Amino acid sequence: MSAELTEPGGKVRLFVEADLGIGLRVVPSDGQAHYLLHVMRAKAGDHVRLFNGRDGEWRARLAEVGKRNCVLECEAQTAPQRAVPDLWLVFAPVKKTPADYLTQKATELGVSRLQPVNTRRTIVARVNLERMRANAIEAAEQSDRLSVPDIGELTELEKLLAGWPANRRLLFCDEGGDARPIAEALNGTGTEPWAVLTGPEGGFDPQERARVHALPFVVPVSLGPRILRADTAALAALTVWQALRGDWRGG
Ligand code: SAH
Repeated sequence: MSAELTEPGGKVRLFVEADLGIGLRVVPSDGQAHYLLHVMRAKAGDHVRLFNGRDGEWRARLAEVGKRNCVLECEAQTAPQRAVPDLWLVFAPVKKTPADYLTQKATELGVSRLQPVNTRRTIVARVNLERMRANAIEAAEQSDRLSVPDIGELTELEKLLAGWPANRRLLFCDEGGDARPIAEALNGTGTEPWAVLTGPEGGFDPQERARVHALPFVVPVSLGPRILRADTAALAALTVWQALRGDWRGG
């Protein structure tokens, strides 16, 4: 009796690059095949869910099973494609909390892009993009997303701001103490595209802060009277934005 494969978090959902549609066949990656055949012990006829960020979610059947790989055949669309709000997280990587954690949480919170930046006081010199992408894919699979966030290359803040898209507002998490409360600052603004910017453990240096404040697309905000760790600040700002401007408003 063929079954819908499930894991503790629910149905087995796999992100694939291939097109999805009635009768289309998809060969999963070696890692995905190993997971299906040797971890989930899937048999021919079992079902999984597939998504690729373009064609919605599809139920697919294990049509052929080999020793080391298998072929999945799309049977029916189980959800139409839906995008997450156009919300970027621009963050200075912090040493203590690996980017993995922030990548997973920001993906669950529905960001469309993760953009690591180097600021004057950033300590972390490099970011493992492959690792970040693998974490983003896993979090997208587990959080019922139908898309995986883009992951940007680590970029100097200066350079990023110099080429900033004019129509995207930047919510600048400014611990300087004189910014408006985030809920007030977001009141009455449009829904998207937006970005959230958080600094490194040491915060933004004065010139950097002044430079960011002076940009027309920047909305400085305070996240309350306490100093939050960089990852706490990023997740808190994303949460408030989703609740006030994003897709947590229902409908
Ligand atoms: N310079 C601070 C630490 C910065 S916390 C100090 O040690 O005093 C890292 C980042 O989190 C900051 O750059 C800012 O982007 C964000 N952040 C932390 N607390 C915040 C707050 N109360 N309001 C706005 N942003 C905050």
